[in-house]
Amino acid sequence: MQSFDAHPASRREFMRMLSLGLGATLVGTSAVGGPLSWLEEISYGPASLEALQTGRRLGVALVGLGKYSTGQLAPALQQTKLCKLAGIVTGTPSKAAQWQQRYQVPAKNVYDYKTFDRIVDNPDIDIIYIVLPVGMHAEYVERAARAGKHVICEKPMAPTAAECQRMIAAMQKAGKKFSIGYRLHFEPHHQEMMRLGQKQTLGPIKRLVADNGFRFNNDTPWRVDKELAGGGPLMDMGIYCVQGVVYTKGQLPTSVTAKLAPNPDPKGLFKEVEAGINWQMQFADGSVADCRTSYAENLNSRLRAETDKGFLELQPAFGYGGIEGRTSQGAMNIQNVPQQARQMDDFADCILNNKPTRVPGEMGLRDVQILQAIYRAAATGQKISTKDVVAVLDKTNSR
Ligand code: NAD
Repeated sequence: MQSFDAHPASRREFMRMLSLGLGATLVGTSAVGGPLSWLEEISYGPASLEALQTGRRLGVALVGLGKYSTGQLAPALQQTKLCKLAGIVTGTPSKAAQWQQRYQVPAKNVYDYKTFDRIVDNPDIDIIYIVLPVGMHAEYVERAARAGKHVICEKPMAPTAAECQRMIAAMQKAGKKFSIGYRLHFEPHHQEMMRLGQKQTLGPIKRLVADNGFRFNNDTPWRVDKELAGGGPLMDMGIYCVQGVVYTKGQLPTSVTAKLAPNPDPKGLFKEVEAGINWQMQFADGSVADCRTSYAENLNSRLRAETDKGFLELQPAFGYGGIEGRTSQGAMNIQNVPQQARQMDDFADCILNNKPTRVPGEMGLRDVQILQAIYRAAATGQKISTKDVVAVLDKTNSR
């Protein structure tokens, strides 16, 4: 087991979590390589440790109270230790009333889309979290930047790379921290895939496989509206395959090829966006990743890497919980954790200690560039180079 003595901040937080009865979430053994490196991820900076002691929390305002805010982010903000739900932005007055009552949000911290810009004057709000349809992300990130707040923007960052670049520029001008809502970078199974893959514990990765898709029932119609979603399942679900492949391999692809899946409803549900797509990412060392996503069928949620000596695999891989991992040497035996709470607390830690986030806007741009290359490959039937994609990697912290 990793000695905590070399990391006093980690050790103190670990002891504190134990005293809060949260230690059980840290129990597990890795099948390959021994120590559970992800324990090291809980290493808050000194300002965060002070905040934990004094009870100071950064205020988060959720913009858009749809399924993800309601089902995941608001509950997660009841579990965070460094931030709290302090404000809401919604176009539906009845929702505002319900949320105010449920989460004790004061009336002065409730906005609609017209009054949103007044948030600039509200010292209770430190972080604005954009949870709107993808086509609205750029406008709201730019407005949040003008309000001088730190921002988390949900994935995918925007329909186009040009919008991503505008968002990054706006946040740079504001001088505030900016991250993408990539929850799985803070999830211990995925962190273990990063560590085992990048450290080549079973040798160099020769092939990867990633699948993520579900049968879409039109419960959120914006997801099949090209302007509001930017694309279909590739943007929404395939992005997790791209991410998983890149952080397990620890490299960016040099090119992609792709083919659209048959469209079961080209005049109806899938008249504006693809129903499904299969693609391959090619790497400089000759290795490849074969990936699939769909809104027309339920696919296995899977991330797998193969080497000459064995394999690493998560299945189910991409959900909010229930993730299971194994390698050719046995089960990972890692417990699931509250992903969104860890993601938001990590961002708060970055703000409090002026540290860079591991999921910056540039990573969101990188992924949109790769997704666009995949769409171009499908449209042209050609291999498309990804050599100009912005070079951002989430390198494992493991030593
Ligand atoms: P949703 O449709 O349930 O919520 C969207 C919200 O935006 C609703 O409250 C809706 O009222 C509001 N809205 C404002 N203007 C709108 C307009 N013109 N059209 C449609 N809605 C409008 O969607 P969701 O599933 O909550 O997704 C919201 C965002 O969160 C998206 O960016 C999505 O990709 C992201 N998301 C991320 C994850 C994750 O695991 N990180 C999971 C689900 C969704």
